[in-house]
Amino acid sequence: MTGRWTAGVDLGGTNIKVGLVGPAGQVAHASELPASGLRTPKDFVDVIDASIARSLAAVRAPERALTGVAVGVPGPVDAERGLVHTLVNLPGWREVPLKRLLESRFKRPCAVDNDANLIALAEWKLGAGRGSRFMAGLTLGTGVGGGFVFNGLLYRGVGGSAGEVGHTVIDPDGPACGCGARGCLEAHIGTAAILRMGRGALTRSRGALRRLVAAEAQGRLTPKLLSQAARSGDAEARKVWQVFGRYLGLGLANLINVLNPDRIVIGGGVSGAWPLFAPAMRAAIDSQALEAPAREVRITQATLGNHAGILGAAVLLWSNSQGQRVATTRRDSA
Ligand SMILES: [Zn+2]
Repeated sequence: MTGRWTAGVDLGGTNIKVGLVGPAGQVAHASELPASGLRTPKDFVDVIDASIARSLAAVRAPERALTGVAVGVPGPVDAERGLVHTLVNLPGWREVPLKRLLESRFKRPCAVDNDANLIALAEWKLGAGRGSRFMAGLTLGTGVGGGFVFNGLLYRGVGGSAGEVGHTVIDPDGPACGCGARGCLEAHIGTAAILRMGRGALTRSRGALRRLVAAEAQGRLTPKLLSQAARSGDAEARKVWQVFGRYLGLGLANLINVLNPDRIVIGGGVSGAWPLFAPAMRAAIDSQALEAPAREVRITQATLGNHAGILGAAVLLWSNSQGQRVATTRRDSA
């Protein structure tokens, strides 16, 4: 058998990442393309088809070395049928039978799942979740995504929407959330919330935050700048990350009490501020979670970084090919 490559695709809000994953879980070739021009699902299939062909050429592999194609999308998915229900960033996508479209193009096994599910699966198989039995993965960024891997299988719930940790309610009188509810975890610690807190901090700052923002083009505030300022000792910026850590810890305490996981893996761009928010996060868990499950869980930073979505897509195809059912909770047809 010559080199066997699985194509993993991560369809994000602004970019599409496409990568070839080898059998040892290594990303051999990856590229990033803009998602903005995609009007139809067929456009998307065309774009990734061309990208996969370029990647195969780059690693000098023939077309037959491609074992399959799997895609993670930022929205709810019926993974068993490969049906994408809706995508906020691509309004034309409703009830798209993406798995079928992929299979008719590539003539190989294909799979589709929610991106946060795939990131959790990748961390369980190849990253910070290795060896865990009941793992929850959280992805911190624009939103707060979640995925559960129990005994090596994704837990998706009856319709594929399990793991929406970002929409667990922390404060019913809290800020409005994009989902229409109020006080969700995401409304407290998503990027928009961080920037809202950051703007308040900026008006009070006498230190690094004020200097750093003034030095930026157009004075643009970003979560990265807020963590830089906090690392340089800006008291107001540090407070933002303490509040962030407290809310995250409250969300995790609920998760710990409900699931009793042995591992929680936290990734996504914002998790880079870990040293700034982790102490407040742990304090909130200690005060709110039940003692036994709080003792039994290990909370750790994700290790796979930017390629986690690509890797998770490949891991999903591998587990499908080993005969593991895509869904763990519905239609026991045995
Ligand atoms: Zn919400």
